[in-house]
Amino acid sequence: MTESGRGPMLAAFVALLVLLGGPVDGHPGHMEGVTGPVGDPTLPPHQTVVKVTDTVHLFMTPRGGPNASFVVTPAGVVVVDSLVTPALARRLLAEIRKVTPLPVRYVINTHEHSDHVFGNQVFSPPAEIIAHENVRAHYIKNVDREFAFRRSISPGIDLSEVKVTLATLTLSGTRSTLTLHLGGREFQIHHFGPGQTTGDLFIYLPDEKVMFTGDSFNRRSINFMGNMASYEGWLRTLDQIGAMDVRVYVAGHGHPATKGDIAAYREMLESFHTEVKRGVERGASVQELLRTLTFRQYQGWRNYERFVHRNIEGLYKRFAAKP
Ligand SMILES: [Zn+2]
Repeated sequence: MTESGRGPMLAAFVALLVLLGGPVDGHPGHMEGVTGPVGDPTLPPHQTVVKVTDTVHLFMTPRGGPNASFVVTPAGVVVVDSLVTPALARRLLAEIRKVTPLPVRYVINTHEHSDHVFGNQVFSPPAEIIAHENVRAHYIKNVDREFAFRRSISPGIDLSEVKVTLATLTLSGTRSTLTLHLGGREFQIHHFGPGQTTGDLFIYLPDEKVMFTGDSFNRRSINFMGNMASYEGWLRTLDQIGAMDVRVYVAGHGHPATKGDIAAYREMLESFHTEVKRGVERGASVQELLRTLTFRQYQGWRNYERFVHRNIEGLYKRFAAKP
């Protein structure tokens, strides 16, 4: 998409949000488990459902909390990500029921972070859960760590109802594709290798040229970089998805996006990486970098306050540990 095409497209999304959005949860500005600092003022403060295409629906939790999507086919529904609590997943199911009585046949977890996984139990059984094998292994080996991490970054969240529900179908290896055919629709599920995590999946709908990206890309959002699986792999993946024939990217948080947003996001990852690396190489202390690196250009982005310092610390450790 050209630079000149972005404005009208984003304007159309905003118009869609205004048309289809609205405080449908009765508690504008509050939803359990998804409170937290955000910096992007365009993010809706209440639960919102956006119709991305005739069959693709995006469920956004308040202020850039986790997204889930559902795709309706004549043979049933495919859900992408299941949100951070069963309570939220039940809200998602209620929205699905407003559109179709058909069963949810598949849930695809885009990556291992619990804000995209902890609602699985609401759908499965009977739905099949699709994830990369590393995500399944993560919830067998590191389940306590995942709960602890979620509680640390979402203080006050109630996870008492969560019963970890593992994937029933997995993709393997460092590069793999699974194509799901359902109700005459094709879902190309890709794993492009380690990037943000070791189990990132991208779901491409060739008929509508829609791609779900999980948290490997979020529009105008600073992601946590302290534990990324591969910086180089992450950039390569962004280049790859940016080059595919995609009209709309639906990310793990925030608004639907365009190719221009992917480029801006890539630039943000590079600037954190480059600035901290440069600091480590000239022998700066982490305290000095925390004081001097402000990344002000991203002040209007989601998670600016939450992750700038954490990312500097995380990347510093990463570079300082290298011989
Ligand atoms: Zn997330």
